[in-house]
Amino acid sequence: MKIKFMGAARTVTGSCYVLETNGLRFAVDCGMHQGNAEIEKRNWDVDIYQPETIDFFIITHAHIDHTGLLPRLVQKGFKGQIYTTPPTRDLLKILLLDSAHIQEMEAQWRSKKHLRSGEKFIKPLYTQKDATATFPMVRSVPYDERFEPGSGITVNFKDAGHILGASLVELWVQENGIPSKLVFSGDIGRPAQLLMEDPSIVDTADFLFLDSTYGNRDHKGEDESLDELVEAIAYSYRNGEKVIIPAFAVERTQEMMYCLYLLSKDGRLPQGMPVYLDSPLAIQATEIFRRHTEYLDEETKELIQKGEDPLYLPQMRFTPTTEESIAINTLSGPAVVISASGMANAGRIKHHLRHNIWREGASIVFVGFQAQGTTGRKIVDGAQKIRLFNEEIAVKAKVFTINGFSAHAGQSQLLEWLSHFQTREMQVFLVHGEFSAQQVLADMIRDRFGFKVLIPEYLEETTLEPGRVLKRVEYPERAAPRINWGYILEDMETRFARIKEHRAQLETKPWVEQTDLRDRLLELNRILTEINSEI
Ligand SMILES: [Zn+2]
Ligand SMILES: [Zn+2]
Repeated sequence: MKIKFMGAARTVTGSCYVLETNGLRFAVDCGMHQGNAEIEKRNWDVDIYQPETIDFFIITHAHIDHTGLLPRLVQKGFKGQIYTTPPTRDLLKILLLDSAHIQEMEAQWRSKKHLRSGEKFIKPLYTQKDATATFPMVRSVPYDERFEPGSGITVNFKDAGHILGASLVELWVQENGIPSKLVFSGDIGRPAQLLMEDPSIVDTADFLFLDSTYGNRDHKGEDESLDELVEAIAYSYRNGEKVIIPAFAVERTQEMMYCLYLLSKDGRLPQGMPVYLDSPLAIQATEIFRRHTEYLDEETKELIQKGEDPLYLPQMRFTPTTEESIAINTLSGPAVVISASGMANAGRIKHHLRHNIWREGASIVFVGFQAQGTTGRKIVDGAQKIRLFNEEIAVKAKVFTINGFSAHAGQSQLLEWLSHFQTREMQVFLVHGEFSAQQVLADMIRDRFGFKVLIPEYLEETTLEPGRVLKRVEYPERAAPRINWGYILEDMETRFARIKEHRAQLETKPWVEQTDLRDRLLELNRILTEINSEI
């Protein structure tokens, strides 16, 4: 059996793993590549996917970094079936249409520029027509109902606890009479996440493909995060300014609505402070949440049974139209505005930032992962000015980065989830993470469980044979022959950050506890000296 990593290799976007076995060619996920221009170019060059020869797709969940290229591949000749869960099927419709709309708008905007300079009209990556052509190919299968999408292949979806309908995939393959089991974690959720169940436990796999987004860090607790949210709201309320929350339309927005509901119950949300849900997509997604309440966690189901609506507040206003959206910034006075996109690089949120980020007293609250190269990441990293709509805007608002709401498991939660696996010979592939985070996690997995760990590269192809050690698995030998300066630099930055962290700890801890930290510091210093000598 062969696997090829078409994306989410040493980066978080573009999830797609193409498998070949038993004369079939199929893939898990079909994500869009997001980030800088170099990375986004991959969305255009899709011939390498050979879309016309793919028999079927298994889709873990609706996020665009797992589904956003489906219409592009349909446009380029994919004719098979797309298997996913019922909520994902519904979310897919609104998210792909939205993505197509963004592509069309972007092409229109670029074309204007191009035509002015005498060049040709630019076609969108795909259109709403391409997205619509994708929907009839979708087959939905609920959690824990095994199915056979092709001969010799059995698939089971289990709750990944990430977003509504998100699954981790168990996949059994019989090849030449030899069985093997692959597990794709998809995006694995944070246990105790509001609205979602905890990720399902799996205890066997020959090959595991593991989300490593937060491979190098843990999240703060939810209570602490709620406190931070209260602080941001109180700060801007006092100053008569707005709280701007960039949030992904699916899941994070509904979670923020739930948080505000909780705060309001506790009397911690200023009474009558308007809350705007300013994203047509988020409004539609909220409807889909209401339609699939059986996929929510027990606590939420109980609340609903008691007649409560945890996704509603009396002061909440939905603003689907452009006019209503524009009106928000013509009104003065404090308000909470939840809008998309979550990384602030597209959509209505850009307008809210333009109107508010230069205002002292306003606050910008980041509640999700900010990928490298996005406007959100620049603000989180402390940019003094940002560029929006071709204009330099000063950052004067107070910036809050709250990471306790993540829909991804943090480092220790990933390790806890892994600890249930009983297969000693399991081989782990770290995917969906930045390389610096993956290296830290890989070391921990090797140390703690002794599993073989590989961090595949973009377009890498590997043969999977259960019980046989993969050629590239042995990490230290593999890293030796080639020097990639980019990675070394990234690695050094991570290690510097860890040294700084340790030093800060040393300053606060009593002398007796410092010996271990000192040892670790010395070890880090030794590694640094090694890297220095290589450079
Ligand atoms: Zn996701
Ligand atoms: Zn993802």
